Amino acid sequence: MSENHQKTPYEQFNAEVPENFPSESMSARAAAALVRSECWTDANPMLNLSSFVTTFMEPEALEIFKDGSFRNFADPDMYPHTKDTENKCVRWLHDLWNGPKDAEPYGSATIGSSEACMLAGLAHKWNWREAREKAGLDASKPNMVTGGNVQIVWKKFLKYFDVEPRIVPLKPGNYILTAEHLDEYVDENTICVVAIAGQTFTGEDDAFQEIHDWLDAYEEKTGISIPMHIDGASGGFVNPFLYPEYKWDFRLPRVQSINASGHKFGLVPPGLGWVVFKDRKVFNEDLVFYVNYLGGEAATATLNFSKSSATVLAQYYNILRLGREGYTRIMKQTVENAEYLRERLVKTGKFKIMNETQRIPVVALTLDESITKYNEFDISNKVRERGWILSAYSMPPNAQEVNSLRIVVRPHLNRDAAEILASDIERACEFLEIHGGNATPPELHDPLKTSPAKC
Ligand SMILES: *Cc1c(COP(=O)(O)O)cnc(C)c1O
Repeated sequence: MSENHQKTPYEQFNAEVPENFPSESMSARAAAALVRSECWTDANPMLNLSSFVTTFMEPEALEIFKDGSFRNFADPDMYPHTKDTENKCVRWLHDLWNGPKDAEPYGSATIGSSEACMLAGLAHKWNWREAREKAGLDASKPNMVTGGNVQIVWKKFLKYFDVEPRIVPLKPGNYILTAEHLDEYVDENTICVVAIAGQTFTGEDDAFQEIHDWLDAYEEKTGISIPMHIDGASGGFVNPFLYPEYKWDFRLPRVQSINASGHKFGLVPPGLGWVVFKDRKVFNEDLVFYVNYLGGEAATATLNFSKSSATVLAQYYNILRLGREGYTRIMKQTVENAEYLRERLVKTGKFKIMNETQRIPVVALTLDESITKYNEFDISNKVRERGWILSAYSMPPNAQEVNSLRIVVRPHLNRDAAEILASDIERACEFLEIHGGNATPPELHDPLKTSPAKC
């Protein structure tokens, strides 16, 4: 018998993780035990309500996910039917988002909304430049207009791809992009206006119709036609099911591209986004590469290459499994649970609602002025003791003086759990009322500041 066989599991698992690349092997059980135990104190993803990312899937979906893990999605020559599930999902999303029937749907599965946003941003940059050059105009100063409520990906896009940021600041009480100050930001070098469906701070939608109408009037006045991109990372899988009459999508003629996160309300585990263009021709052909690297010739127009097929197959499964009817029921229940939780907390008299017009299941609250002994950060810290993770943050410029406590109510959070959470928040407030809090908002480093008016 080897020495290893005589060891109890307790001894086998009692290894140290070396500083340098390990020189020896260890048993599979020992390695697995080490990896697991190192993550023991990480948060429980189910209780992480600061995240929008899916943390539950049916066993059948998990099986599909596992099956797809070893199939390289970048190899459509070997896995043509796997690749075709992406094409079907793109067509379905184009239909779900009311793309014109006579258009040729085009789009892509991406690693997340981030990659999707980058691709959409690039398409608009290319289209803008092409049009400017064709007209013999200067094409060296592209800018993009969006609100101070944008997710970090757009700031990355602007920096990485050298597009001038024109970010309209928020103000206390208004956390969305409206048409109010567009005349100070939009000009002939604007590649597109990005508006959000289901923003990360308050869950609200930007004022799409108003922005759209403003851009129509701007075109009438100047002859300059500016497209819109909708960042539907969260809203893309909520709006179509809960508010079918609400025009946030391709029904607005200026909306040329939309992204959504499959791993948020698309109900797939982390690692999936979607970008869909109104028509094939919106995605500039100049950005498409044709490769014959892994067998046959294939078009590729994404920022990364190899990845597992697991998430795309899981999305395909979810859409087949749930359909409009299933997604509608899930989203309705989730929004009802969010409303329940919000009402419970507002009834305490300690909180005010930040998002009157919110459409996705996000509870965004700020403490009432009467609360002086503690702040939103203290509450977040206190409920962490019971395992809950709630985001507390100060709002982006120029609403920094407003703190927010945000709870993303995802479909797995049932009414019973929402009830337990509400009691835990109330208990935290009672404790803090007696003992006081001492949390201070963290300083954030933002390499792209909100633009001053008229850049
Ligand atoms: C989450 C989110 C993103 C980034 O999406 P990932 O899928 O995490 O890459 C972009 N925009 C908005 C509005 C989001 O909510």
